Amino acid sequence: MIQDARIVAGFTGAGISTESGIPDFRSPDSPWMRHKPISFDLFLQSADARREAWRRKFAMDDLYRGARPSLGHLGFASLVAAGRMPAVITQNIDGLHQESGLDPDQVIELHGNGTYAKCLACGGRHELDWVRRCFDADREPPDCRMCGGILKAATISFGQAMPEGPMRRAQKLTASCDLFMVAGSSLVVYPAAAFPAFAKENGARLVIVNREPTPLDGAADLVIHAEIGSVLSVFVS
Ligand code: NAD
Repeated sequence: MIQDARIVAGFTGAGISTESGIPDFRSPDSPWMRHKPISFDLFLQSADARREAWRRKFAMDDLYRGARPSLGHLGFASLVAAGRMPAVITQNIDGLHQESGLDPDQVIELHGNGTYAKCLACGGRHELDWVRRCFDADREPPDCRMCGGILKAATISFGQAMPEGPMRRAQKLTASCDLFMVAGSSLVVYPAAAFPAFAKENGARLVIVNREPTPLDGAADLVIHAEIGSVLSVFVS
């Protein structure tokens, strides 16, 4: 299918990072499910919620510091390097596609990126190490160094608008591809999960590599229920 395809779109979820040691969202004992998520509105309204969001963020970062790209990330990176895949659309926030060698413009992040912080007022980027030093010293998250606005991890929280640029780029790639390859997503988080269905409706072939069944398995041209590394490692060059 890859050989036949003109344009291959990659699409990943948390499952591609489990072999890097980062748990996915829905598996039993998932650390992501331990707390009720802090919605975007609450984050904006409450200093207590912001403090708690940063406390949780740094605790999770400590657990998964040093995670390296998996064979799945490297397999997709090889398809990009070979010119078969213009970009990978990802729901992940861990930056591991970039670490596998992809340029920033070859990764379309639908849910943002948790490896840096962003000002909600001016969009200014801040490094997490600096935010953490301030947080550890004052027990309060710092304000934006440029404009004094509220800083937040550069991820998309529940209730926060999807990022316009990445959504547009993902739509364009989905509409233009003739093969759409999903790896490691339960395909239940919308609007991200609409992309594979849209690709299929638009005439592309759909391949799903996932440990467990997904709601789109019935529509796919090929479903592989297996560990991602064992499947995508065949592409690693
Ligand atoms: P999900 O947890 O809902 O689904 C992950 C899927 O991957 C599951 O169906 C699971 O069976 C499968 N899977 C796990 N490890 C696998 C492996 N080694 N091989 C094959 N399949 C495997 O994740 P989702 O669909 O991405 O949706 C969850 C949301 O949570 C997303 O928005 C995502 O951004 C976020 N999230 C991100 C990270 C991350 O950045 N690494 C981690 C957790 C959650």
